[in-house]
Amino acid sequence: MTTPAVDADSQLLIHRCVDCRRWIHPETERCPECAGELKAEPVSGDATVFTFTVNHHAFHPAVPVPYVIAIVELAEQPDLRLVSNIVGCAPEEVTIGMPVRVLMEQRGDTLVPVFARA
Ligand SMILES: [Zn+2]
Repeated sequence: MTTPAVDADSQLLIHRCVDCRRWIHPETERCPECAGELKAEPVSGDATVFTFTVNHHAFHPAVPVPYVIAIVELAEQPDLRLVSNIVGCAPEEVTIGMPVRVLMEQRGDTLVPVFARA
């Protein structure tokens, strides 16, 4: 899955259909429901952990192991899910259904949206 965009205020941006108002992630060319145009809009950043795994293998020097790779479901829409990391707590404290909130983590030159316990 693609990493969602972040705007100048470090808000998480997700694509949304301008016609039926459905949120779409990962981004597609057109709305899969009504073929409407998509436009990035900020979301609340509130989410819950849908599922997760603890990773012990280092992929990026800026990210120490172990860390949690999670699929989080955004509060805006029941099937609006994205892959991210859960930060700020021990991996064994993460549970499915845990409420989380987005925060932006600097990794090299890019701000990456990650989630911490709400
Ligand atoms: Zn649509």
